Amino acid sequence: MKILIRGGRLIDPANSIDSVHDLLLQDGRVAAIDPAEAAADVTIDAAGKVVCPGFIDIHMHEDPVLEDGTIDNDLETAIQNTMLRMGVTTAVAGNCGEVKYHPADYLDLVDKQGTAVNIAMMAGHEYFRVKSGCTDKYGPATEAQKAQMAAELEECLLRGCLGISYGIRYVPGLDRDELLQTAAGCRVTGGVLAAHIRDDAEAVFAAAEEFIDIGRTLSLPMEISHIGSMAGFGQMERFLRQVDHCKAEGLKIGCDCYPYDAFSTDLGSTTYDDGWRDRYGCGYDVVELCEGKYKGQRCTKEIFDEVRRDFPACKTICYVMMQEEVDLAFRHPGVMLGSDGTLSSGQGHPRAAGAFPRLIARYAKKGVISLYEAVNKMTAMPANHLGLSRKGRLNVGADADVVIFDPETIEDRATFAEPLLAPKGIDYVIVNGKIAARDGSIVCRNAGKSVRKI
Ligand SMILES: [Zn+2]
Repeated sequence: MKILIRGGRLIDPANSIDSVHDLLLQDGRVAAIDPAEAAADVTIDAAGKVVCPGFIDIHMHEDPVLEDGTIDNDLETAIQNTMLRMGVTTAVAGNCGEVKYHPADYLDLVDKQGTAVNIAMMAGHEYFRVKSGCTDKYGPATEAQKAQMAAELEECLLRGCLGISYGIRYVPGLDRDELLQTAAGCRVTGGVLAAHIRDDAEAVFAAAEEFIDIGRTLSLPMEISHIGSMAGFGQMERFLRQVDHCKAEGLKIGCDCYPYDAFSTDLGSTTYDDGWRDRYGCGYDVVELCEGKYKGQRCTKEIFDEVRRDFPACKTICYVMMQEEVDLAFRHPGVMLGSDGTLSSGQGHPRAAGAFPRLIARYAKKGVISLYEAVNKMTAMPANHLGLSRKGRLNVGADADVVIFDPETIEDRATFAEPLLAPKGIDYVIVNGKIAARDGSIVCRNAGKSVRKI
């Protein structure tokens, strides 16, 4: 199968390209740039459009497996399909320590069934903590439990997971010794340590230092997750300085962020443990419930207490971050885009269906950052940070994951009221050399494969 994409503006920051070229895809790879021969099975006229590497979502969550052991592939509501419609061709799932399924087995399932986008996995620490028998998230693990976790996490890395993710915020009993012991598996493969760090707002600086100390001690690359919801309350400038200071030491630290001023988490999570309103300086009404009988409503103390007790898994949206702080994050050259996408039965935060086009619409189109820089944050930066040599780039031999969009009309449409709405302005999404989405509609739901680092 040969696809020739003619006359588009090729933006490929990994190869420092931003100019008009023809691109030939063949058998799942980039075969040529400006080929001499024009023959192809499919020719796409991309004049006036941007042609760039498929977007890489370095921070996605879901690994949805149904009771019959297959991956949930619902056309409208499954997250890999909302990802595909917004131009993502590779999503890294299993972040914040949370996986629902054994992450290496999930990669095998992806290859067996095929998914809409390529899937890479982080090995989620909390899953293995619970599996080891340590079920008290506020308490420490025993030596035997730590040894079991370390062995199972290392096995995940040897089977292709890109790194280990932690939700330190969600497991307050996780201490330095447990972090060091369980993270050591990454040293075998050079995997990345990713973390939703222990605390946010004014406590974010100490929380970042705690995590960075682990990467420094083990000489491993790190990823600090969704920094907008960690430092987006007036701490962003100092937080970015803190990270830059550590990078100047030679540490490899990535930061990701999503372009919204509200975060999303379960009502039962530790984020809402006592003291949360003081931390954010807010009332109960900043929390909107996404599911159940109060769906779409803001909380009162009574509703908050009732749902936290009776339906702790209820997804919430919390409207507390400052937009100018999120803007500050994206203007920083070291911050990439991660959707932090989660969906539960098709409900949740619009970032799962809109984060990537929103970065272009809200930042590049308005001149806050250049289009080239926006593409960089969605392609080359995550690929390089994760050590993926054939993703996030379009040189000859790279995987044929491509997005073609109209730089004038591209826009996210997903909202908090309608979180699944497909964006507009994305003409084609090509996954492993197959046209997978066209004009916002999915035409192939199984072109994706597992992405492993072994
Ligand atoms: Zn998180």
